Amino acid sequence: MIELAGVTKVYPGGVRALDGVTLSIGAGELVAVTGPSGSGKSTMLHMLGTLDRPTSGRVAVDGHDVSRLSDRQLSALRAFRIGFVFQQFHLAAGASARDNVADGLLYAGVPIRERRRRAEAALHRVGLGHRLRHQPHELSGGERQRVAIARAVIAEPALLLADEPTGNLDTASGAGVMAVLRELHATRTTVVVITHDRDLAAQLDRQVRMRDGRIESEAVAC
Ligand code: ADP
Repeated sequence: MIELAGVTKVYPGGVRALDGVTLSIGAGELVAVTGPSGSGKSTMLHMLGTLDRPTSGRVAVDGHDVSRLSDRQLSALRAFRIGFVFQQFHLAAGASARDNVADGLLYAGVPIRERRRRAEAALHRVGLGHRLRHQPHELSGGERQRVAIARAVIAEPALLLADEPTGNLDTASGAGVMAVLRELHATRTTVVVITHDRDLAAQLDRQVRMRDGRIESEAVAC
């Protein structure tokens, strides 16, 4: 599903955020990327999500060598094959949960009625079938994050990337969000979760630990 080979990312100003990272993630894996602040986790997510290109090295996602794709082709790859979830939810205030989720199909050319129907199905999938018309301010943090996950998966991406998805949540809400991510993984979605929470990472099948832009260690749950 994802191959990073000798990936280095140097930001303007000379910060070497990734330093020769080689990593392979298979279809259907559930992986945690951990490490202290500044170790390169978000930069890694940008590479995995084709949001940015490496300074050197090779990135392949879903069989596509990112360096060979135009910006337009990369946008299409992201729109159809990759879902994103961020710590801050990024929901539109004033729009219902259903319409926020339906927005996940905005660029797929799906008519509005079909978008709404699929949004309702996606919200049922994350346990929010009873919150379709609630606006973000009427939802708890955990519910908001589940709306964001429903939006990320409405187009049925092969890969879901989550950057600190429980970072703004209390323990119980965080556990609920993790349960939803696990369920998605059980239906064959490849899920990569970036977190600095070691307890949370320890619950996942595979853990990749970053330090100073390199992979420091890897662990696989028995
Ligand atoms: P993490 O997600 O583990 O906190 P990041 O990938 O955000 O780590 O950052 C790795 C390093 O790259 C840090 O030293 C950070 O300051 C630097 N960095 C991140 N983004 C940029 C950027 N856009 N421009 C310059 N430096 C950056």
